[in-house]
Amino acid sequence: LYQELILEHYKRPRNHQVLEHATTQQEGVNPSCGDELELYLVIEDDVIADIAFIGEGCAISQAATSMMTEAVKGRTVSEAKTRAQEFRAMIHGDPPAEALGDLKVLAGIAKLPARVKCATLAWVTLEQALDQYLV
Ligand code: ZN
Repeated sequence: LYQELILEHYKRPRNHQVLEHATTQQEGVNPSCGDELELYLVIEDDVIADIAFIGEGCAISQAATSMMTEAVKGRTVSEAKTRAQEFRAMIHGDPPAEALGDLKVLAGIAKLPARVKCATLAWVTLEQALDQYLV
């Protein structure tokens, strides 16, 4: 079941477009697999009002990015940072936090060390974008 949801996000990624009116833009690269992302955010009053991405790479990296955008759209910057920490903890083997919702299907990646960077690329890139916003 978890693979189905990942494949579904890979084939039909959510929020997959360039946002011309982005207030923050961040590139993410995972050279070990060849995954690439360009993340676009519209942050207004500390809320991620809109988020989208374009990219290419393996199914896990692209599906995980699609799921990340769904998880943080409409959330505050601080909520998004908390989700990023929870996601990272899960991918490193901790029991998944309830707030992760659908993202919990990626918990199995903890057992696939070679794919950890594929799964976390979206969140690392998001954190870089949010740090840029907070400067
Ligand atoms: Zn990958």
